[in-house]
Amino acid sequence: MTPPPAADTPKAFSPPPASDEQWMRVALEQARSAAGLGEVPVGAVLTAGDELIATAGNSPIGLCDPTAHAEILVLRRAAGRIGNYRLTGTTLYVTLEPCLMCMGAMIHARVDRLVFGAFDPKTGAALSRYRVGSDGRLNHDIEITAGILEDECSALLRDFFRLRRDCGRSA
Ligand SMILES: [Zn+2]
Repeated sequence: MTPPPAADTPKAFSPPPASDEQWMRVALEQARSAAGLGEVPVGAVLTAGDELIATAGNSPIGLCDPTAHAEILVLRRAAGRIGNYRLTGTTLYVTLEPCLMCMGAMIHARVDRLVFGAFDPKTGAALSRYRVGSDGRLNHDIEITAGILEDECSALLRDFFRLRRDCGRSA
């Protein structure tokens, strides 16, 4: 039996899968921009496969909006861009472990996967304080990867708060 001829169709262009570290570096840039605007430096990125859908930095002060966390803004932008309030098949990268509000929003959006950098032992709702989205108590579970570029992500926050304390002292 002769084997069928090799398919002559050109391969669809598929970039190599970007690593979690690469996307976390994009989130870190967003966090640094937020710090430059006087916001607590947290940045988020939403991807679908290897595609960047949206980015956002933490902005509650600038937007005068207590819900303007980086994760909420990136979900809003992504949903607007895609034209769908369900963001199935996406991964959300964020430099700091999300709070309760943001975990809730990610569940509403049906985000598949969460990747975060620094742990937040006080208010982290993904693994530290609560395990929203991975304790099997809700209708949607989120796959969680933690500690990606953790040192860089937490150093950014530490430096920001140290600087703010020092400024407060000299004021
Ligand atoms: Zn939050």
